[in-house]
Amino acid sequence: MVEAQDWSMIKMKRYEDLYKNISTKTVDAIRTLVKVKRFYRKTETEKEMLLQELNSTLSDIYKIERPEVRFVPEIEGLLWLVAPRYNRQKMHILLRNTSIVSFLHEYKHHMQEARHKPNNETVARGWSLSLFKQALPKLFEKSAKEGKISFVGVENHDT
Ligand SMILES: [Zn+2]
Repeated sequence: MVEAQDWSMIKMKRYEDLYKNISTKTVDAIRTLVKVKRFYRKTETEKEMLLQELNSTLSDIYKIERPEVRFVPEIEGLLWLVAPRYNRQKMHILLRNTSIVSFLHEYKHHMQEARHKPNNETVARGWSLSLFKQALPKLFEKSAKEGKISFVGVENHDT
């Protein structure tokens, strides 16, 4: 007989394995960003522009309003401390740096807002990490090993 406790153990999944059916167009957009547009070889300013482009691409794919993406410099003090985050009222994505995964995480919060779904942290973590892993499995593995991505390998208890 399986105890209730054992069932919750069985349900546990890692964030990077939560989403299996992400749109091919979306996966391709991330792959193109890194493999074709050479994201990681660009300057910070160019990376900001590429993430702005990705913001437009994803908003076209999902047919939702394009949020404003702002890179908040350290000089803005308190604002910087609260980034990265998504401001639901203003539809602003605030980022501290040019991280693809951070952008995707906050973009998922925007999708939740645009589609009138509840703001859910598990979904945002699961979607952004699953997407990055599917688009760039080798880079994902390398970055994960080097501790460069938050919440990798963490088991999610909500689903
Ligand atoms: Zn979040």
